[in-house]
Amino acid sequence: MSSIPPPIPARVREVPSPYQEFDPTKDPDMANQMVRDLTETKPPPPMVEPPSNAYVLPGGYLDPEGQLHREAKIKEITGADEEAFAREWKNPNLSVARVVDLILRRTVTAIGMIDPVTPEALGSLLIGDRAALLLAVRLLTFGTDWEVPDFPCRLCGETFGVVIELDKDIPMKELPDPRRQEVEVKLRNGTIVTVGLLTGALQLQMVGDGNRTAPEEQTYAIDRCLRTIDGQAVRSPMAQSMGMADRRKIVQAMDEGQPGPQMEEVVVTCDKCGGEAKYALGLVDLFR
Ligand SMILES: [Zn+2]
Repeated sequence: MSSIPPPIPARVREVPSPYQEFDPTKDPDMANQMVRDLTETKPPPPMVEPPSNAYVLPGGYLDPEGQLHREAKIKEITGADEEAFAREWKNPNLSVARVVDLILRRTVTAIGMIDPVTPEALGSLLIGDRAALLLAVRLLTFGTDWEVPDFPCRLCGETFGVVIELDKDIPMKELPDPRRQEVEVKLRNGTIVTVGLLTGALQLQMVGDGNRTAPEEQTYAIDRCLRTIDGQAVRSPMAQSMGMADRRKIVQAMDEGQPGPQMEEVVVTCDKCGGEAKYALGLVDLFR
């Protein structure tokens, strides 16, 4: 049997409510105080930013002073932005990294205390945070639903119409400790290396003009991100002399260590065969 909780004691009023009846002739001081209270100009309530314009990063920007900035401000894509993108999208060598960069440069207005945002801060964001921001801009501009009239089922081969709820159907991964933006990897010979997570600026440099092969990109990323080997700082490039298995392990750990939307983990149910399967969505496709 549950016991009845004790009644909550009434809060003691130190000042009578102005609506309470009382005789001003008996308490003129109180009457004056009440008039002052009522006529005093009060500051307006603080302006609250519409919640959809503020976005908390799943990782965060660690500035050179070590301060963590997690709340970003974004704006929706306007006609002027669209025209700017259309011009760039004519470029046949345009990479996904560059598309993400183009959109974020025009839609992210602040990151934490950095308001307006600087290109340095934007470029220093982890690629997972940048993906999360891009998704947030997509939601702000077009809403949560992504309608695909001809989604191809990988189980029965039929296509079907589906509405993907981008805010619910895409799992979002947060960094367990946003101040720790590196991963530890144990190599085959037992050596422990620490590797920083890839940032937007590094990714853009890595992709370059699109002429690097995937292994060349990996060499670039490992050499830029490798920080320590068994606790000793890494001073010279070494990715090329590393074994293929170790390279793969590092690249995989760097990938898994990123926060952000898990675009390859989207579960969709086919209404033709009823089968449920995981699909990998392209971030940029969400803007088409
Ligand atoms: Zn199917």
